[in-house]
Amino acid sequence: MDYQQILENIYLKIQPYAQVGKQADYIPALANVDPDQFGMCINTVQGEVFMQGNATTRFSIQSISKVFLLAMCLSFEGEELWRRVGKEPSGTAFNSLVQLEVEKGIPRNPFINAGAIVLADVLLKHLKHPKEDFLRFVRNLCGNDSISYNEEVARSEREKSYLNAAIANLLKYHHNIEGEIEEVLHFYFLQCSIEMSCHDLSNAFLAFAHYSPFEYGEIKLTSSQVKRMNAIMQTCGFYDEAGEFSYLVGLPGKSGVGGGIAAIYPQRYSVAVWSPRLNQKGNSVMGIKALELLTTETEDSIF
Ligand code: GLU
Repeated sequence: MDYQQILENIYLKIQPYAQVGKQADYIPALANVDPDQFGMCINTVQGEVFMQGNATTRFSIQSISKVFLLAMCLSFEGEELWRRVGKEPSGTAFNSLVQLEVEKGIPRNPFINAGAIVLADVLLKHLKHPKEDFLRFVRNLCGNDSISYNEEVARSEREKSYLNAAIANLLKYHHNIEGEIEEVLHFYFLQCSIEMSCHDLSNAFLAFAHYSPFEYGEIKLTSSQVKRMNAIMQTCGFYDEAGEFSYLVGLPGKSGVGGGIAAIYPQRYSVAVWSPRLNQKGNSVMGIKALELLTTETEDSIF
């Protein structure tokens, strides 16, 4: 497969969408990002790497970090984890409170904010140095020791965190947060603020494309757990647009409000794409279009 040629074709074909949507501004620091950027990177399981556009520019990965969070929590807790968080698509916005009230503080899945806030609480219990340990895991996954948090973005989000604070309070009320709310939210915002490029993300997600045992330092997953993580990405990775993403693209993946999307073709490749302009649901407009074109041009998806 000539992936480089495919990436170039995609780049030309997405140009009509270049001005559609706008970048997230509810996190003030993200409003300053130049919206007119696009990058894409594919890593094959054979070890080849193909890049296009701003593929080495770092951006705020935001909710894509929830995949790393889930990998760590599954490694520590195994199936026990599902007592505190579900694995069903939410059908509501990523920051919705509604379902939490109805389902007594058990978030629908680990990839909505409520679910990831519970996971952040779980990790605080297991990690001696949460800030350093989380970063070390992400650095190990992508093989790049220069990956870091953007503490300015984390601080900017914390200052306007009314909705996430409400979610955390509701979780605590239903006894699904063990730690201190402030500490849990601080850790949650920090991990959302990690900055990576498409190249870094695609490197990191390659670990989920191999269905073989996964071992990065103390974090270990069986091949079955890796497969199940892909199942959750497929059904829950795109907020309340997960069905549409499956329909258009047909790959498991995860998006973030920084405009990034990382996806996986199991046993074949990982791919990351980034463009800051988002649609109404909080997903990158050019990112979704580019991935739709990828599975169309290669005439290949998991379906
Ligand atoms: N830090 C963001 C928030 O909690 C992440 C949202 C996202 O990327 O979906 O609102």
